[in-house]
Amino acid sequence: MTNENPRSSATPRTPFTGVVALDGPSGTGKSTVARRLAAQLGARYLDTGAMYRAATVAALRGGVDLDDNVAITGVVESAKIEISTDPEAVSITLDGEPVDSEIRAPETTAAVSAVSAVPAVRALLVAAQRELIADGGIVVEGRDIGSVVWPTARPKVYLTASARARAERRAGELGSDVASVASDIERRDTLDSSRAASPLTQSADAIELDTTELDIDQVVARLLDLAASADA
Ligand code: C5P
Repeated sequence: MTNENPRSSATPRTPFTGVVALDGPSGTGKSTVARRLAAQLGARYLDTGAMYRAATVAALRGGVDLDDNVAITGVVESAKIEISTDPEAVSITLDGEPVDSEIRAPETTAAVSAVSAVPAVRALLVAAQRELIADGGIVVEGRDIGSVVWPTARPKVYLTASARARAERRAGELGSDVASVASDIERRDTLDSSRAASPLTQSADAIELDTTELDIDQVVARLLDLAASADA
């Protein structure tokens, strides 16, 4: 894993030294707010979903059966996934080749829940994530950051939004129709929440932030307040 440009150019005088965990389902605005929050805190940024997506690209390229956990694990074990933690320059490579577009392709999105449900894949990626997080000063977004990857993260935030708001946001990002995005989100939420290995779940000590009625700036402002009290 690489760790390029660890601090953003917008580094304030006293950079944030802690770990912020941002978990929640898709369409809650997690990625956008996490990146902006990191830039404003002068912290690094880690998109763990991008890592599961890159592992999925490796599995799809390897042509493995998505029901074959052993084959998936073998492909992911030998894949070299490198991710930038610079919030101003997000990028991810698989075996040295940028896969920033491929990880967002519909076929990758359709397969990612199956790959991320494989316990050995999670063990590999969680270990890599912990190495990247260990130095602190980082905003980490995903599904299991506060529950499994870094339970001592502060603040530990669980972002939610109504199903309709989430579908509308994702449809806007992807330029797709709301109905098809809504069914894709519902399918992934169900798979991500029902899997045996570290399912999407809200930790008892997480602060829930419902973003349905909030715009990006309002969410970032709330998170900045939470981060300031956590780092005090
Ligand atoms: O956040 P994003 O939608 O890019 O995540 C893609 C998928 O990766 C999720 O639907 C989930 O299956 C998986 N994921 C996960 N654990 C994380 C982050 C993402 O299982 N920490």
